Amino acid sequence: MSKPNTGDGRTEERESHLAASRRSFLAGVGALAGSAALGGGATAVTGATEGTADGEADSAITFITDGMGHTQITGARYLKAYQADSEAFPLNVDPAKTGLQMDRHEAQGTMTVFPDDPDELVTDSGAAATALSTIGTGENEHACTDCDGVTDCAAAATSMSGGVKAYNGAIGGVAGEDGEFVPVETVLEAARDAGKSTGLVTNTRITHATPAAFGAHVPERGMEDEIARQYIEETGVDVLLGGGKAFFDPEEREDGEDLLATAEEEGYELVETADELDGVDQTPVLGLFTDDDSHMNYYLDRLPEDGTGQPGLPEMVEKAIELLSENEEGFFLMVESGRVDHCGHANDPAIAAEQLEGDEAVGACLDYVQDDSNPPTTMVTTADHECGGMSLARDGPYNVNFDVLDAMGASATEGLAPLIEEADSIEEIRGIMDDHAGIDDMDEYDVARVQRTPDDVKEVLNERALVGWTSDGHTAADVPTFASGPNAEFVNAARDNTDMAGLITDSLGL
Ligand code: ZN
Ligand code: MG
Ligand code: ZN
Repeated sequence: MSKPNTGDGRTEERESHLAASRRSFLAGVGALAGSAALGGGATAVTGATEGTADGEADSAITFITDGMGHTQITGARYLKAYQADSEAFPLNVDPAKTGLQMDRHEAQGTMTVFPDDPDELVTDSGAAATALSTIGTGENEHACTDCDGVTDCAAAATSMSGGVKAYNGAIGGVAGEDGEFVPVETVLEAARDAGKSTGLVTNTRITHATPAAFGAHVPERGMEDEIARQYIEETGVDVLLGGGKAFFDPEEREDGEDLLATAEEEGYELVETADELDGVDQTPVLGLFTDDDSHMNYYLDRLPEDGTGQPGLPEMVEKAIELLSENEEGFFLMVESGRVDHCGHANDPAIAAEQLEGDEAVGACLDYVQDDSNPPTTMVTTADHECGGMSLARDGPYNVNFDVLDAMGASATEGLAPLIEEADSIEEIRGIMDDHAGIDDMDEYDVARVQRTPDDVKEVLNERALVGWTSDGHTAADVPTFASGPNAEFVNAARDNTDMAGLITDSLGL
């Protein structure tokens, strides 16, 4: 932290270290196009952004809401309108009256999100040996060998960062023909090599699949110790904000390496609370806002009065842009609103509030992008896939009860259920539901149900709100895309997730 600063936040020592790691890099964005190195059915389509203007943007932002389909957006839209004026609801849902921040974007379309063919990975590609031997050893619960057509977060993010189709579980690379994992250069690395500052911001742990696919290369998403090491020692990301200090902590890492000390040697300032983040005025910065391996709290479980000390996603985004925009060469920033996906997996109706907080973070980005006094910046806002098969309305009635969602003061699965678990009596459970979910009329059946199985509180809320779910996993649905700044009009079309990498590199002239 006391090292001389070269202006863009990098110490000279760090600069030469990073240059060395770049030389050893195996493949570049687009370098694999048509190459035999691409086995497993993968295709490199970076540069498929025909018709985009080259190099008109100085900076770029890729904003990914993990698990966001059109229904998740609608849930946030209606909740926002209900909160703005419950008397005027639903007539004020009209975007011209109570719009989302996302609605400020200049262009919008849709995107397909299928992964690389996993069967071909198994039968034809030796990379299976690398990839499959690691599946199940980490936390790769989504990776599978028979999940045709439905992507996980790792493959989808790799498509957006590297412009290639990847197998589920792959982080920043594809399956090569001869059993090797072939890293693919990411848009973040290409931007870094052009002298731009780089950032990864998420409210999951920072080593989770989505940010990892932009700043690391490993064959399996569960290799989070290695992902943390690569962020600091190989990629040299200037702004890293998220949860998961454990993956940097010598006490918790399997190899015992003190990555926190290494980060400090590389010039990083380590911050662990919202207040500390607020005081940061230069890069590189490493913000780790949970001291174990957990994600940051859901928005509803992280309200200021709860005293977690964690910053919200909008505050993290504002700070990241403030720091990154100091570089006159520009920046690349990936932001992830990462826990909408977790609400989807858990079928937790807290998803509407979670999506809405992420939308405020989109607004923080757009405040920068749409301010003409700032250098031109291309921003893409999209998702990696839908999660949960979410439905607004269920069981027949033409209705959704947004008053139920509005009254939630805690998530069902991580806020209410643990409280109910510890309750000693029916009266205590009734009190918890009244205090934290605005429900004072639970019938005896429902009280007994959540006393027996606290997690069923989500069902009580879903049934009251009339929110439905068809899965506890991802779905194949196309996802929405939005864009602003140079080349925004590119997303006024049906696109594929691999196109998003080329859109960023073209816009930045990389
Ligand atoms: Zn995901
Ligand atoms: Mg994610
Ligand atoms: Zn997921």
